[in-house]
Amino acid sequence: MKISFNPLYYIKPDKGRAIIMAAQLGRNTELHINETFETIIHPLHAMILSFFNGRELEDVIHDIQINIGIDESLLKHFVRDLLNCNTYLRVRCNGSFSVFPPNTLITGAYNREKMLSWRNYIYETVDLGMRRHYTPSSITLMVNNICYTQCHYCYADKRQKVSCTIPFERIKEIIQEASSLHVRTFDVIGGEFFLYDKWYELLKVLHANNFHPYLSTKLPLHETTVTKLKNAGIQDIQVSLDSLIGGHLATSLFVDESYASKIQKTILLLDKYKIPIYIHTVLSQRTGSIEDIKSIYNFIKDIPSIKEWKIDKAGKSMYANTPYEDIEIPDEGVENIAMFIDSIKDDVAFPIRAPRPKVANQLAENMKAEDFFTRGLCSGNYSSMFILPDGKVTMCEELYWIPKFIIGNIKEQSLTEIWNSQKALSLFNTKQEDIPASSLCHSCSDFLKCRSVKQVCYKEIIKQYGQDKWYLPDVNCPYTNMKSK
Ligand code: SF4
Ligand code: SF4
Repeated sequence: MKISFNPLYYIKPDKGRAIIMAAQLGRNTELHINETFETIIHPLHAMILSFFNGRELEDVIHDIQINIGIDESLLKHFVRDLLNCNTYLRVRCNGSFSVFPPNTLITGAYNREKMLSWRNYIYETVDLGMRRHYTPSSITLMVNNICYTQCHYCYADKRQKVSCTIPFERIKEIIQEASSLHVRTFDVIGGEFFLYDKWYELLKVLHANNFHPYLSTKLPLHETTVTKLKNAGIQDIQVSLDSLIGGHLATSLFVDESYASKIQKTILLLDKYKIPIYIHTVLSQRTGSIEDIKSIYNFIKDIPSIKEWKIDKAGKSMYANTPYEDIEIPDEGVENIAMFIDSIKDDVAFPIRAPRPKVANQLAENMKAEDFFTRGLCSGNYSSMFILPDGKVTMCEELYWIPKFIIGNIKEQSLTEIWNSQKALSLFNTKQEDIPASSLCHSCSDFLKCRSVKQVCYKEIIKQYGQDKWYLPDVNCPYTNMKSK
């Protein structure tokens, strides 16, 4: 029987422990659990799992015995527990517990791109506690904030145009360092990625280091570009498509009326070269009608390379020129779109993810204390970092150049230096006495329960209260309704 470690997962060595996480971000249509999950396992378990690369079970067990000397019956028992198990599983190991996600081991021979040798998990001490990742696991490089479109709902900080000023040689070094640190994903974004003059070279360096970034574009691509992408071996691409009604796009993206046919041609070219396409639609008042959604649906429904259609509401931005009430699509509009999607979703071969307004509102408005304290982890400065086009590194994309959240500069520091810098560590371990007394957090008796490891969402706090109010409680804090801030 051939057995594989699930190719949808990646095991990151993390000093004294290993972390199982989604192998990729943003394109996990086959992953049936939240892609932001992570489970911590004993490094010995990671060593064992690293042998499961689709070979016959007997061969794998033989190799494990030779290299790390584990008893055959114990190994068979371990495999029996994990194989095709469809729930999370806790397994004891040397006095600690490892937690495995569903289907950690599956029957069959599957390729894993980021397959580390068992030697990468050799350990001196074991620490399976919840803590900040020892090295970053996800890195995003923003190559510019220059776009082909001028979306009226834009969330990005575009107050100044910024091109990439990081020397290309330095970018190469950073990618190589990321590879040596076993960083899980190294993504690239703009603005518009394809308006970065070295996009192709960058892609080649990333691929050479086994990183397959999730590319996203709003730029109509020529056939020469699509063939270059194909030859470079890209796995897929996201195309942003809010409507195919030319007049609506003209008022929403400030493009001319030919844009709709040009972007259609791009999608057909990608399909011609069999490049899997993720369609991403942003709903705003200018392109949020049923007609807009139908225009997209009628075009993409029979295109074989469409992998997924994801529809999101335009979010509130702290940088937008347009007030959010002139951008946000009303709940009724979202409801209508959800109903339309429900009526057609079984007619297409790809999944469609559309927003559900009532559920979202209930969560935001009625978050109870127990939900708040068991909320998900924020990955910023916990497992991920974001490199701005000028080399500065911030903890989170939407915080851009706000000085409080800048943790270093890759023009002057290595990734390791930035990750372990005083700025990064003190931001992550914000002390209660450093919170101004005007904030509830300053005297909150649940400070540690709330903020150790998890952090508050600074992005949402700043969106709601302003850039200088980072120290106020999380927007979902259950205590803010009880006392005045
Ligand atoms: S939403 Fe994206 S593509 Fe549109 S202007 Fe902003 S950064 Fe550019
Ligand atoms: S956000 Fe502040 S006030 Fe609310 S629980 Fe956390 S530490 Fe306490």
